Amino acid sequence: MNDNKLITGIHHVTAIASGSQKNFEFYAGILGLRLVKKTVNFDASSVYHLYYGDEIGSPGSIITFFPYEGLVKGRQGKGMLNTTSFSVPLDSLDYWIKRLDKYGVLYKRPQERFKDEIAVYFEDADGLGLELVFNNKDTRIGSYNQTIDKTHAIRGFYNVEIWEEGYERTAALLQDQLNHTLIAEKGNRFRFAATDSPGNYVDLVCMPDSLKGLAGSGTVHHLAFSTPDKGSQTAIREKIVERRYNPTPILDRNYFQSIYFREPGGVLFEVATAIPGFSVDEPSSHLGENLMLPDWFENERKELEAHLLPINTDLSNYR
Ligand code: ZN
Repeated sequence: MNDNKLITGIHHVTAIASGSQKNFEFYAGILGLRLVKKTVNFDASSVYHLYYGDEIGSPGSIITFFPYEGLVKGRQGKGMLNTTSFSVPLDSLDYWIKRLDKYGVLYKRPQERFKDEIAVYFEDADGLGLELVFNNKDTRIGSYNQTIDKTHAIRGFYNVEIWEEGYERTAALLQDQLNHTLIAEKGNRFRFAATDSPGNYVDLVCMPDSLKGLAGSGTVHHLAFSTPDKGSQTAIREKIVERRYNPTPILDRNYFQSIYFREPGGVLFEVATAIPGFSVDEPSSHLGENLMLPDWFENERKELEAHLLPINTDLSNYR
């Protein structure tokens, strides 16, 4: 393996939701992820930005949401990341099926995708496409917020699934600029990874006959890849400029630095630094408990707190 990779895998997935309370109860309650940061959308500060992940919000485990209260639903389709999959142990299949039943979450019949990998598809309350992928190759410790027994807990992402008109140009971008290689294929599914381990698989699925996706609640806003630090960020930005993808300048997201650009199939890509991480503004033991604001919003705290609906974080109904 090349130790000097500019891109090491997936950093986070950011999606749009229609309400913060039901979003919290689904991801922290039913799925047992830890809320690792409660802040606001840095580009639209009247909306929360909620981050869920493992204990510390490691890259490859972080799903984040902009909950616009009451926002109309979007539509899955091509040019969109339609399914975000979480990694769970193979032996936990019965546990999770019972748990989804218990909370009235509808799911599709388990199906084997690649060898030793069983996927169960379901959706959150807004229709966001999710999966649990049961497998035995994940060595990560995973999330633990006390709603779920440690042995069954989500380890982080397994893969993401992007629907494209055709996969070739996106594949070329992943391979030539973003350190990915093709590691598996089956039918119309092509799996790429920068690091061949759960949490980093990017599946491009050719769906030329599908309608185009439409943004709205229950859809993914962007996919972020992980780069080690600001130096590698600058280098990857240059490579993307060379390919004429017109990335944004490097933006300060407080917990990481980011650039954004749109891939040829239409999905917004981000490259985020693995550092400094979520303990930069509150201790690891208290992540997600208080509304955290970057310095440049601190003077608006009163107005923001008055506008944002409070989130009841009592998870006793989910134990
Ligand atoms: Zn992002």
